[in-house]
Amino acid sequence: MTDNTSILRGRFAPSPTGRMHLGNVFSALLSYLSVKSKGGEWLLRIEDIDPQRSRREYAEMLMDDLCWLGLEWDGEPVYQSDRSEIYERYFEELAEKGMTYPCYCTRADLLATQAPHETDGRVVYRGTCRNLPPQPGKAAATRLIVPDEDIPFTDGHYGCFSVNLTEQVGDFIIRRKDGAWAYQLAVVVDDALMGVTEVVRGRDLLLSSPQQMYLARLLGFASPQFIHLPLLCNSDCQRLSKRDRSLDIGSLRSRYQSSELLGLLAFLAGLQPKPDPVSAKELVAQFSWDKVPTKDIITHFE
Ligand code: GLU
Repeated sequence: MTDNTSILRGRFAPSPTGRMHLGNVFSALLSYLSVKSKGGEWLLRIEDIDPQRSRREYAEMLMDDLCWLGLEWDGEPVYQSDRSEIYERYFEELAEKGMTYPCYCTRADLLATQAPHETDGRVVYRGTCRNLPPQPGKAAATRLIVPDEDIPFTDGHYGCFSVNLTEQVGDFIIRRKDGAWAYQLAVVVDDALMGVTEVVRGRDLLLSSPQQMYLARLLGFASPQFIHLPLLCNSDCQRLSKRDRSLDIGSLRSRYQSSELLGLLAFLAGLQPKPDPVSAKELVAQFSWDKVPTKDIITHFE
């Protein structure tokens, strides 16, 4: 049998809720280059746990787009929608440990209990339902109790952080009111069971890392190394919007060769001095995290 533990594994974990966007292509490319430059494997996981928003056609287009880009994944793609029984097992384990409780709050309740400074769109949960008696028959989300302690972590690109989950996140949802598994639970279980050793993704998910580390610790898993990426912005320094149709891959494919698009992205990532056409394989040899900026990247894509 091969020794699984010594293999470096990265992954790309898109949600098939629409066509890939320039920002997704950037994350896919850098997660591929990061692990391939170290001789590791790059896995593909389709995060289709939200039945209302995920579509099989988008997953298929996504794979076609990755092939067009020359980003070939190793092994078979993993679909989260096939893994409900696995999530159930770990969910039960957390429940048996007394780490979860039902939450009956509506979105309006959550917003009503917000402190005025929490204006960045994040809802810090104040534990409203933590000590309520269960109300059988009433639809509830399930939350995980978080500790009131600093969780230190070192991001592979941004350095050291310390996050107090009680203050910055609150008890978070691991199963939604409609029964769907929450991203945080599924991602931790899958990264661990798939043997993922590094997670490369946009820095908008930075605060997910301490949540995932905490959840991994409760389940007895080692955490992967987290490496976050700067975001791509427009000339007003605003994050590129998914609504900008000209930056979805369907539109990009009609205007660029894949080598041209990769050349532009590699230039933005600091991997080459000019936006010359290049293949993903050629970029592997040139890749180093030292070249990639930490500041968000202004793009002038048309
Ligand atoms: N499905 C998530 C997304 O597309 C993945 C985030 C992650 O890489 O952990 O945002």
